[in-house]
Amino acid sequence: MINLRKLQKFFVKKDGQINHPPIESREDLFAALHEVGHLATNYTNNEGKTLSFEDIKKEAECWRYAFNCVKKAYHKEMESFALQCLQTYNMWLECIWGEMYSPEELLNLLKEA
Ligand SMILES: [Zn+2]
Repeated sequence: MINLRKLQKFFVKKDGQINHPPIESREDLFAALHEVGHLATNYTNNEGKTLSFEDIKKEAECWRYAFNCVKKAYHKEMESFALQCLQTYNMWLECIWGEMYSPEELLNLLKEA
């Protein structure tokens, strides 16, 4: 299971710096690289905005950036972590819109070119 309390400490600050706790594991590094993906794709989820299906696509795009930062040998592990992170947003979609992406759709979003 992912540690949501810890994950919340990874984000792009208003000044464009990445906020993160000390990197202690590969998952921490994956999360930090995902935040670099936010900078690289110029997508930062501004607070107060209602989460949309498009937002999950953008999150997946940030993950795709992170995948490109690491060796293929780590992709499976990163994929599992990324899917869990996307799933937490996905559950918010369900709460807000009454619908969510299927597990297969989430995986496809991660793999889109
Ligand atoms: Zn993100």
